[in-house]
Amino acid sequence: MNDPVARRIVEQLKSHGHTALYAGGCVRDHLLNLPCKDIDIATSATPDEVQSIFPRVTGLEGKCYGVVRVMEGNQTFEVAMFRTDGLYLDGRRPESVQKSTPEEDAKRRDFTVNGMFYDPMTDQIIDYVGGQEDLRKKVIRTIGKAEDRFKEDKLRLLRAIRFATRLNFEIDPETFREIQKFSQEINSVAVERIRDELDKIWISSAPDRGLTLLDESGMLREILPEIDALHGVEQPPQFHPEGDVFIHTRIMLSLLKEPPLPVALAVLFHDVGKKPTYKVDETGRIRFNGHESVGARMTLQILERLRYSNEIIDEVVIAVQNHMAFKDVPKMRISKLKRFLARATLENEMELHRVDCLSSHADLSIYQFIRQKQAEIPAEEIKPPRLVNGNDLIAIGSKPGKILGELLRLIEDAQLEGQLKTKEEAIAFAQETLKIGKTI
Ligand code: ATP
Ligand code: MG
Repeated sequence: MNDPVARRIVEQLKSHGHTALYAGGCVRDHLLNLPCKDIDIATSATPDEVQSIFPRVTGLEGKCYGVVRVMEGNQTFEVAMFRTDGLYLDGRRPESVQKSTPEEDAKRRDFTVNGMFYDPMTDQIIDYVGGQEDLRKKVIRTIGKAEDRFKEDKLRLLRAIRFATRLNFEIDPETFREIQKFSQEINSVAVERIRDELDKIWISSAPDRGLTLLDESGMLREILPEIDALHGVEQPPQFHPEGDVFIHTRIMLSLLKEPPLPVALAVLFHDVGKKPTYKVDETGRIRFNGHESVGARMTLQILERLRYSNEIIDEVVIAVQNHMAFKDVPKMRISKLKRFLARATLENEMELHRVDCLSSHADLSIYQFIRQKQAEIPAEEIKPPRLVNGNDLIAIGSKPGKILGELLRLIEDAQLEGQLKTKEEAIAFAQETLKIGKTI
């Protein structure tokens, strides 16, 4: 909030006879003593006037909405004209905007806590919408009539939950009733926008509360029906005293504090395959055979539907697919264990495994076993450089193809088991193996 560059932009706008104020999220965060990410500036200047004052102005595609970006040094600030929105015909964006006053500009914003201005020159808060009072009460409330505001822009339905989750605020009852009423219409919003809002919920300090609010609002059923379907999926009480799969998942989320996104998503989806694989066996015990593979496939579909990057999809799907492999770790041969430990996704999977245990039987012995092995085995032994490559094996008479690949794998196994230490030993081992192969 004390950014000298933002202040200078305001100063310059004022020296040209315009009004200029900090607006929205940064004012809210300043009053909450939270670090503010970016300072947005609202002004009486039109985009053309802003362009005539500052040498480096970008984001000109936003000009028709009254918004441009001013670049100073390596910083960029959004500078938006005070405006009133025209008609919302598509449920997301106004058809046009008109220049207006700060008060009108405040009233087109979404929630009272997001509708305040701050004058950096006089250190004054300018609040036309009761934002300060709602900050004190810790309430998310629409500016104006909730019904009208959600009708205009359906993304606000999700933004309400995002801000309530991130700030740990309640949602005003009237506002929440309207969110419930409009919940089905969240599907009219572009999936990327939905995803970006959800992500901010998952990586917050209370992703479990976000899940609860999404559920109670009715939007979970719309956006993530596969997670909603985990309600009432019973589990064997001896392993899961906490309750059904939905409760188990929610408790796991409650154990995460500002998690990396792939961890949060892996937790959310790790047991999604339990619904379609639910069976009661002949002894009366509940089984979910293969739920990790079915769940991994479902996770892939869901994440593709939400248009996540391939990198995120891979990380999350691998974690879901692998989460049952942890129970086998203490029985693994050393070569298999080393391969398990060498995987790039291990740390995310460890966090998934940790909260999976803590939210059910609370037995962390496998987690601790892995941590102990990581401490015991030097990093260069977990992933040692290869002793030989394919060309080395061709040089001693192996033919390119499947057998060569198999031989390389046998050599790596023996290396990881500690039986081979040098290239010479590996070559001798390969020659011996090829000789045996020929005599069979
Ligand atoms: P964050 O800290 O996550 O960036 P923010 O409050 O700055 O939170 P932005 O999405 O960056 O949120 O929007 C900036 C401001 O613009 C908001 O504080 C709000 O005043 C206004 N705003 C943003 N989106 C909407 C919307 N869909 N409807 C109405 N006003 C909005
Ligand atoms: Mg912002």
